[in-house]
Formats: sequence, C-alpha cells, structure tokens
Amino acid sequence: MPDNGTERRKNLRIPFQIDVSTSNSRSGYLQTYDISSYGMFVKTDAPLPLDSKVFVSFKVPDNPIPIKCYARVAWVNNASTDKNKPGGMGVQFLSLSEFDEKRLDKFLDTLYKESGRQGSDELIEIDSEEFTLFDFSPIIKESLDERSKKLLGYINDMKSKGSHTYRRQLISSSGSRVTIFDETIGKEREMIMMGSNNYLGLSAHPRVVKAAEDAIAQYGVGAGSVSLLAGTFDLHKRLEKKLAELKGTEDAIIFPSGYSTNVGCLSAILRDRDLVALDRLAHASIIDGSMLSNSKLRTFKHSDMKSLNDVMERNKDIEGTKLIAVDGVYSMDGDIAPLPEIVKIAKEHNAMVMVDDAHATGVIGKMGKGTTSHYDLEGEVDIIVGTLSKAIGQLGGFVASSKEIVNYMRYFARSYFFSTSLPPVVVASVLESIAVMETEPHLHKQLWENIEYFKGILVSLGFEIVENTQSAIIPVIVGEETMLKKMSARLHEEGIYVNPVPYPAVPRDKTRFRISVMATHTREDLDTTLEVFEKVGREFGIIGSKKSIINQQ
Ligand code: PMP
Repeated sequence: MPDNGTERRKNLRIPFQIDVSTSNSRSGYLQTYDISSYGMFVKTDAPLPLDSKVFVSFKVPDNPIPIKCYARVAWVNNASTDKNKPGGMGVQFLSLSEFDEKRLDKFLDTLYKESGRQGSDELIEIDSEEFTLFDFSPIIKESLDERSKKLLGYINDMKSKGSHTYRRQLISSSGSRVTIFDETIGKEREMIMMGSNNYLGLSAHPRVVKAAEDAIAQYGVGAGSVSLLAGTFDLHKRLEKKLAELKGTEDAIIFPSGYSTNVGCLSAILRDRDLVALDRLAHASIIDGSMLSNSKLRTFKHSDMKSLNDVMERNKDIEGTKLIAVDGVYSMDGDIAPLPEIVKIAKEHNAMVMVDDAHATGVIGKMGKGTTSHYDLEGEVDIIVGTLSKAIGQLGGFVASSKEIVNYMRYFARSYFFSTSLPPVVVASVLESIAVMETEPHLHKQLWENIEYFKGILVSLGFEIVENTQSAIIPVIVGEETMLKKMSARLHEEGIYVNPVPYPAVPRDKTRFRISVMATHTREDLDTTLEVFEKVGREFGIIGSKKSIINQQ
C-alpha cells in the first residue's frame, strides 16, 4: 500500500453513501466525505459514544460488492454546537480483510491521482494550519517513519509561524511572573504566567523552599530504591498519615506521579470480570489505568446522571466489582463532578466510587481539602486519588482510602511497587506545602478572589467560558484550531503565557485557552492579562467591540 495516507485523508472530501449499522440497531444510510485506508468520517447527528464498536459497510464506485468490517469510534463531533460543521464520528477500521483492503486501496489511489497530489517523498513540508496533532497519532495506520517525519514537519511549520507555544523554557520559578528563554526572539524575557497548575504559588513559597533545603542537608536528593525495599523514609510515612488526615480516610499511599497513581491504582484493584464506568471527560490516566485492568470499560456522558444510571442498569448483572471513576475538577473544563448524585447512584448499584482530586486539592472544599469536603461527603467515597504536582506545588500522586485497599496497593500497584519512591526532599516540601495550606488560609481566600474577579471580567468582555466552570481553571473557547494557533502566537508576543488546548484533547470546534489563576497573581497581573485578551480577542473577532470595562471596577 503506498504510504501517503495522511494526505489522502485530508484531501478526499467526496460525498458518497454508506450504510452503518451497530450490532443491535441499524442507523440507515449515512454519508462520509473523508476516507482513508485506516478509517473515515461518518456524518450523523447522533454519533455513537467514543470507543463503541460499529459494523460499517460501504460500496466504492464501480464495484457492487460492499466493503465490510468492524470499526471503532475514535472521535466524535457534536453538530449541535457549530451549525457550519457536520456532526459525526471518526471511525477506525479494525478488521478489513486483505481483499477489502486491496479494493479500498485501489479506490483511494484512483481518487488520490484524480486529486493531482504528489507522492509521499515530497510531503515532509506540512502546513500546520491544515492539520491537527491527531493526524500523526499512533492510531493512524502509517509507519512510524512516516508519522514521525510528518509530525516533525508539522512542528517545524508551527515554530516558523510562532504558534508553537509548547515547551517554552522557564528560567525562573513557576510563579505569577516568569522569565523564559524565548526561542522566537532568541533572548530572555518576562511573561505573566497564566498556565501553571501551581494554584497557590507554593512551589517557591519561602517556607517550602526552606523545608527542601533542610531535607537536602539531612537526606541528600534521591531515595535510592523502590518503597518496599530500601526507599521508605520517615518522611514518606509522615506524608502518608498527613494525606489520609487531609482526605479523611484511614490510610494513604504515595506514587511517583499523579499519572502513575491512576494507572497503578485502577490496574491493581480491577480484574477482567469487573466494570469500570468512566465519565467521558475523565483524565487520560484514568482511561489508561482502566484499559490496563482489562475490566469492562463503559463511559457515560459528561456529568450526565441519567447516562451514568443507564450504564449501571445495563450492567447490573456483573458479579464482580463495579467502580465509577470521575475527576473531582475536570482538567479541561474546570467544572466539578456532581459527586452527591454519583454516590447515590453508586449505592443503588452496589458500586464503588473513585474521585481524582488533582485539580481540586488546594482549590475547592474547606481550606482546599478537595471534592468530598466541597460536598460534605467525607467518608462516602471509596477511593480518592490526588496529585502533589498542582496546588501542592511539587511532584507525585497518592491514593487515600481504607487501610485494606491502601495496603493491597502497596503490593499490587505495579507503578508503585516497581518504581523508586519520591525523593525525600520532595516529600519534605510537600509536608511543608500542606502545613502552609493549613496555617496560611489567606492564600486560598486570595485564590478565590482572583478567580471570581478574572472570570467575571472575561465574561463581561464577551468571551465564551465553559459553562459551570468553578475552579482555578478557566477555559476560554476559541473554536477552530487554526484560530487557536494564530491567537497563541499573538498572546505569546504580548507577554501572556497561556496554554492552548487543541483537538483531540477537546472537541474540534471547542479548542480553547486553558487559563489557570493563581493566588499570587496581583491585580496588575490580572488586569494586564485581561487587557491583552481583550485586544487579541477583538483582533480575531471572538469578542465584539463593546467598550472596555477593565479598570472600571
Ligand atoms: N489526573 C488529572 C485530572 C490531571 O489533570 C493530571 C495532570 N494533568 C493527572 C491526573 C496526572 O498528574 P501528574 O501531572 O501529577 O502526573
């Protein structure tokens, strides 16, 4: 098969009829106009849930025998939000027979030639505005050589256009103002940081830094071993106790990162006869851990309790463990999971609940104790996962739960068992960060004052903010990715460090800037950022020409 799939996929926009049916229902004739050797876009107002299996069958011109195979729903486009874009789903072919693969390839080659494109050797120069990162992902049925070369071409093109605002080099602490080495101008400069998860500014708090210095003097820097063997220090035991106390559980276990916490936790507690029900926006590490566990993975619509209830009803006969897993605060939308309803549904279905408090700890609940505290649900959630890398300002993750579950994980969570424990210096500074959270409540208060102030003005300026966002994450919707890329370059130029979130992390028509507010932002930091957003937002026409209201409050 010739290796020019990406070009083919992007350029073959030809309408033809296909008949898509699922195992239990037939959804009639649908259309596609974007097809390649590894999948196609199916136009429909009622896309199936992500990861569902569909049976696709379609005829190519001049051939009466349909091509048939199973396919996986790899991405979903909801039409309701953007009238100019068709709703639908991207399906990835899973079981094309060799015969059908050849027929499809022949058909694609004809179309490819008709489109007048050149061969793959000339495709390394990529126009980044025409593609998304997803086009180079491992899901794409191209060789590694092809994908990696094209990705490099894509990134280089973004760099040349100034829209590659990833991996900027910080040469200061990650505070509210940072110094970076700016590769676009080849020198150092100051920027206002609006993209760090260091919500309380603890990563460089003087008490925390002092605790780290003292710990280095006593313990050196590395832990030297996995926890079970020679890597447990007195500090680790103190931190486990502290985290359990913070989350109101019997015990806690510390992992090397938040990501490895979810992966280790889920793959240890679930087996193939169990069920895990995930919110569709659950963090990647929750999805990865669930997949690794081989349990039956089902998703429900984001924070939609009817959808969750339906999933639980449909799977009520499962005899193994049932687990509902959600983020406390969603990392791309900043909204809070409806935990009281989730706990209620879990009780009705004899299921356990797991909540990931990564963006909740330090931000919501009494003094930042997290989601269970926010809802007065302490003791009602079976497993609380957290990270030490966000408001706590360090690195690492943890599970707070019953003493049995925590003990079980010490022996069977592979990302814990087989990984060197956190350096004592990190643990000592985490302990001090938590002590600061408890003894300096003005930081938490200031964080919320900043959030409300910043969000209020953004909304009055006319920016579209994700509905229900109630945390330090403020997602500003831009829409199409090309605009996001161009705006990223402008915001960078204007000295605002903010993270663009492209597809596939969020839907294609909902790409956004994910702004993170910190307690240590001054009014001046926030006002300057708002002024720049207003200016750039107008340049790109995403807000109207209302009179500025910044500084009039
Ligand atoms: N869970 C959620 C909800 C997150 O947003 C993140 C970080 N992106 C993680 C887990 C992983 O945490 P860490 O960065 O500490 O590995």
